[in-house]
Amino acid sequence: MSESEPTRVTGESEVADLCRELIRIDTSNYGDGSGPGERAAAEYVAEKLAEVGLEPQIFESAKGRASTVARIAGEDPSRPALLIHGHTDVVPANADDWTHHPFAGEIVDGCVWGRGAVDMKDMDAMTLAVVRDRLRGGRKPPRDIVLAFLADEEAGGVFGAHHLVDKHPGLFEGVTEAIGEVGGFSFTVNENLRLYLVETAEKGMHWMRLTVDGTAGHGSMTNKDNAITELCEAVARLGRHQFPVRVTKSVRHFLDELSDALGVELDPEDMDSTLERLGGIAKLIGATLRNTAQPTMLGAGYKVNVIPGQASAHVDGRYLPGYKDEFHEELDRVLGPRVRRETVHEDKAVETDFDGPLVAAMQSALSAEDPIARAVPYTLSGGTDAKSFSELGIRCFGFAPLQLPPELDFAGMFHGVDERVPVDGLTFGVRVLDRFIDAC
Ligand SMILES: [Zn+2]
Repeated sequence: MSESEPTRVTGESEVADLCRELIRIDTSNYGDGSGPGERAAAEYVAEKLAEVGLEPQIFESAKGRASTVARIAGEDPSRPALLIHGHTDVVPANADDWTHHPFAGEIVDGCVWGRGAVDMKDMDAMTLAVVRDRLRGGRKPPRDIVLAFLADEEAGGVFGAHHLVDKHPGLFEGVTEAIGEVGGFSFTVNENLRLYLVETAEKGMHWMRLTVDGTAGHGSMTNKDNAITELCEAVARLGRHQFPVRVTKSVRHFLDELSDALGVELDPEDMDSTLERLGGIAKLIGATLRNTAQPTMLGAGYKVNVIPGQASAHVDGRYLPGYKDEFHEELDRVLGPRVRRETVHEDKAVETDFDGPLVAAMQSALSAEDPIARAVPYTLSGGTDAKSFSELGIRCFGFAPLQLPPELDFAGMFHGVDERVPVDGLTFGVRVLDRFIDAC
């Protein structure tokens, strides 16, 4: 018999442990289905939800590629539902590069360390902690909430979100809005203002293979039609090419807010000076001002004295919402007529307005926990599972609330070495999400 009453478990008291336990399940996604842990993570999540009375379902799209979905009944079933989604897979990590082992989930210096600490087992843990706390206390959300913990986001979501949307769309019946990654984190401007960047748009992605056919021949002879030479010239032109600045609705809104916050006019045509003021988040923002196409792989040849008949390269292309056609036209112009272009993988751009009751709920939840909070919309240069859910007409926001110390290079944490999240950030997120659900 214990001397004292056991302390009551709350969302705030268990969130760090949930995050650590999730990190210890190695869910590395190598892109070829060889990763070990998505099934174990799906079962872990299902168990944590079942403990508080939910009836989670596990869906396997291929062996081991498992996602968990559950629905929480709200006070008013006639209202449309809200989706809260998070992925359970992570990008691989090389333990030798890390200060603390990436799959140990240690707490050091007030942070939970490990692969997935910010992308995005933090939000998975916060969601579990809030939901468990509410259900233990019998606190229903005002409307239905669908929870989705997904496999395969880091390789495009084909075996996770895309699979569920294509094969089990009924799970998302009545869902009109969603929150997930990558947004809701803080950027401290000064002692009177902290911005929380809510993702309202994502660039589209187009991964391509470029091929040039030339004339094969002996390496000792003259050859005016060398595929390698032709391809390399085109790839070099593209790599050095700067696409023009295009200010989309979301970027305009973000710049207006920032300009107001900093008290200066920001000229989108002269973003270099603006980006300098933004410190770490400049990495996130810089790429949202224009289309980009980065050469990432090269391949040609098999012997030093043989000119191959073909050379190829891969390009990671990203276009702004509304600029897909312009992107392709410009791309083909820069590459020239000799280059053939094929699609390796493609996913659309998404954008929604930063307005309405759900946005107001985000702002009020943040303000209640941080008096100097101001939510602002921003565009993500990468992609998330929001692309899949937008197929169902769902308005998607990146809102995984975290208050961060100003000195932490948050953008550098994503897929970076020594990824970590402050425990205080997690407990802050739990409180904000709980208030957000009350107001949603
Ligand atoms: Zn992520």
